[in-house]
Amino acid sequence: MQQTPNAPGEHALVIGAGMSGLLGARVLANHFECVTVLDRDRLADGPVSRKGVPQGRHLHSLAVRGSELLEGFFPGLDAELSEAGCPAVDQAGDTVTDVPSGRLPRFTSGIVMRAVSRDLLEWRIRKRLLRNSRIRFISNREATGLLLDKSTNRVTGLSTRIRGGEGTEEFKADLILDASGQSSRMPRWLAELGLETPEETVVDAGLGYATRWYRVPDDFVGNWKSLAVLPQWPEEPRGGSLRRVEGDRWTAVLVGIGADNQPPNDPAAFQEFARSLPSPTIADALEDAEPISPAYGYRRTANRRRHYDNLDTMPENLLVIGDAACVMNPTYGQGMTLAALSATALETSLSKNRSLKGLARDFHRRQTRALAPSWTTSASSDAQWSVDSLEELGSLQRFAHRVSEEVFRMAVADPKVARPLLQVKNLVKRPRALLRPGILLPVLRRTLSKLRRPGKPETATHSTRDA
Ligand SMILES: Cc1cc2nc3c(=O)[nH]c(=O)nc-3n(C[C@H](O)[C@H](O)[C@H](O)COP(=O)(O)OP(=O)(O)OC[C@H]3O[C@@H](n4cnc5c(N)ncnc54)[C@H](O)[C@@H]3O)c2cc1C
Repeated sequence: MQQTPNAPGEHALVIGAGMSGLLGARVLANHFECVTVLDRDRLADGPVSRKGVPQGRHLHSLAVRGSELLEGFFPGLDAELSEAGCPAVDQAGDTVTDVPSGRLPRFTSGIVMRAVSRDLLEWRIRKRLLRNSRIRFISNREATGLLLDKSTNRVTGLSTRIRGGEGTEEFKADLILDASGQSSRMPRWLAELGLETPEETVVDAGLGYATRWYRVPDDFVGNWKSLAVLPQWPEEPRGGSLRRVEGDRWTAVLVGIGADNQPPNDPAAFQEFARSLPSPTIADALEDAEPISPAYGYRRTANRRRHYDNLDTMPENLLVIGDAACVMNPTYGQGMTLAALSATALETSLSKNRSLKGLARDFHRRQTRALAPSWTTSASSDAQWSVDSLEELGSLQRFAHRVSEEVFRMAVADPKVARPLLQVKNLVKRPRALLRPGILLPVLRRTLSKLRRPGKPETATHSTRDA
């Protein structure tokens, strides 16, 4: 085996073969001679959904920034996905996006998303990693706790068991990366060892999801590959998306904010809910499409951040990545991109540190910084959605809400505003791209004048014209 210069250790263990675990393993293989990835699920040789990743059945948008980062980790991946039939979707040219103030302009934006199902993407990445002689996967193996050397306060491995079986086994390692998703048991395991547990910040908009898969009708002639109806609280608490992915399939997802707007799992009610959206585009498209799956529901959509970066007693060779550390409302379609950003932070941390000393603190801080712009946007907009009316918001939040409404209104009228909005959504630009004077000044002017003279919210009538 090739020796790694300045390696921080020989063996790294990864808990979980989801996107964060796969990308984490890809990075760790640059620094450790052997990387073992454990997953409690059986990892099939194919794009099949599995119990440990229930969200895999839902629409997974790969933001453009995420595609770019994945291409960096796995050169040629995008071409491979294209060959597998995953369409390229221009975010304005191929997409019809309806917002309460109207329809975003259709133009060739050059902001192009690869439309791929989560199952296919995960499998293709896993296949790439299987070609790496330093990485091995162990299926049906569940991590059940940490092994700690109290004298050094370093973890020495994991206790594990075969899923559904009797056998237990300890795995020794120089470094452990927890990528076990939002159900991570790390806080409990730390507490069991008498170590500090992270504080949590939770922001829950009470948003529900339902997804159903359809075959694209043979005679489909629409000039779009993707439809989106964005909710805008409190006037429009319901929304949805529909996108063409590989295999000539549409994934349709419906979302609703609050107890009265949870999308149903019942097939007939699913279509009825689609019809209740402020724009008819999705319901019209589904009318003649053949469903090929049940409707799947999902309710665990809160933003949750565990502050591992603030722990003083965290073992320095124990890292927590991805949804296990910070999960965001999935409607924003960023989780896989954030996993890739976290993996990039891991690479920087390992390259700079070249040892395990202080690694956990360094990595967790870098990860927090990398995710901060998305966390701020997601948590602040969901904090608005989590109250019942605008009046319950503080004056600053109410102001921010109005500003965001005005940005959308301008974007409907002007591709020069729609473009940065789509770039921010795809994480290729930071939210401050929307703060340039040409956007900010008219937005502030209109917001202030509306706050002085409040009236009925202006909403547009949507049609299927050009959809
Ligand atoms: C409804 C929904 C829709 C979403 N839509 C999008 C989207 O459009 N775009 C996007 O980018 N992201 C989306 N996401 C988010 C995305 O799925 C995740 O953020 C991303 O995949 C990173 O997850 P992860 O790898 O950290 O965790 P997960 O994907 O949850 O993977 C965790 C893995 O750990 C394994 N595991 C758990 N516990 C153990 C254990 N004790 N021992 C061994 N193995 C274990 C599980 O089997 C699983 O394989 C969505 C999420 C949801 C819920």
